Formats: sequence, structure tokens, C-alpha cells
Amino acid sequence: MEFSSKLLEKAVNEMSQLPGIGKRTALRLVLHLLKQPKEQTTFLSQSLLNMREDIKFCESCHNISDVEVCEICSNKNRDHQLICVVEDIRDVMAIENTGQFKGIYHVLGGKISPIDGVGPSQLKISSLVEKIKSGNARELIFALSSTMEGDTTNFYIYKQIQDCDIITSTIARGISVGDELEYADEVTLGRSILHRVPFENSFKSN
Ligand SMILES: [Zn+2]
Repeated sequence: MEFSSKLLEKAVNEMSQLPGIGKRTALRLVLHLLKQPKEQTTFLSQSLLNMREDIKFCESCHNISDVEVCEICSNKNRDHQLICVVEDIRDVMAIENTGQFKGIYHVLGGKISPIDGVGPSQLKISSLVEKIKSGNARELIFALSSTMEGDTTNFYIYKQIQDCDIITSTIARGISVGDELEYADEVTLGRSILHRVPFENSFKSN
């Protein structure tokens, strides 16, 4: 890509470092900013800088927060003995959006993946194990993605706490709501049969 301005080229190059943004999209975004009032670019850059400078991670669950202990962990109305293990903040947001979960979370910050060089020590696993060993939890729900890395991570954590007095569960995996059976892949359909539930549970929301 040939640029008539070094300043434009630098802005496009920086923008295209973001995931999913190619050079063409970066150029379109940068040209859009150039057409807008200058303040818009100031607000954008300032909010990104503020985020990088001031963002915190909750001391208890490690979710992204503006305060030392996040709103979920400091909410007395939630069940603090019910802990849901997730990979990152997007999973917390997705589960919160369902309005079905009243426990608290533990955000690992990823999952064990030897191929990507991610081992257990790079994740927030030891603080979870400590929390459970201190006897402050009744049930641990594994809500990691249904991949080999997710299963490995679940199993690794399970091995560390299997002697503790705690119920462990995993989110149900199966046919999506509205899906036709014939279009489900065989692994999903197979798991759905294996993990079938009593019929009366199928129409209860909790
Ligand atoms: Zn928290």
C-alpha cells in the first residue's frame, strides 16, 4: 500500500495491529476519524490510555474491574459458596446476561495449552485451589469451552481438589436450542445422549 503521508501510514500500521483488522479496514477507520471532529480522536485515544493506566483485576475472582474487589464478589446477595470457573471476562459477561447464575466466578485468564506455551502457572489456578482448600465453597462449576484445552484445564484443576469436600459440576453440553437433531455433529449428539437429564428438569429454569 502506497501512502501520500507518513503520518497516515503510521496510523494505519498501528490500527492494523489489532486482531481482525487488515490494512484496508485500518485505512477506512483512520480516514473516518480524519473526517470527524478532532475531539472524537482525542476521546478515543484518551479512553484507551485511561483503560490501560487505571484498570484493575479483582483480588478475589481476577475479573477486570475498576475497584479492588469487583461488584459481583462484593455483592452480599450472591451465593459465595457457588463458584463458576471461566476463561475470561467475556464468559462472565455471557453468563451474567442469562440472568440464571447467582453465584460468583473465578476467572482463569486462559486455559492450559502446551502448543501456545500456556502452562498452569500462567493461569489463576493456585488461588482457586487455595480458595477451595480453605473450605469456603460448596460447589465448583466448570464452564470452560468444550475443547481439548478446556477439558485438560478442567481435569488439571479437578485433580488438585478431588480430595476436598466440594461438589464439582460442568455446564451441560448438547444440542443448541432451536437446532434440528440431524444437523448436530456426532460428538455433540453423543454427549447429549450420555448427559441426558430427567424430563422434568428440561423445562425448569433453575
Ligand atoms: Zn471479583
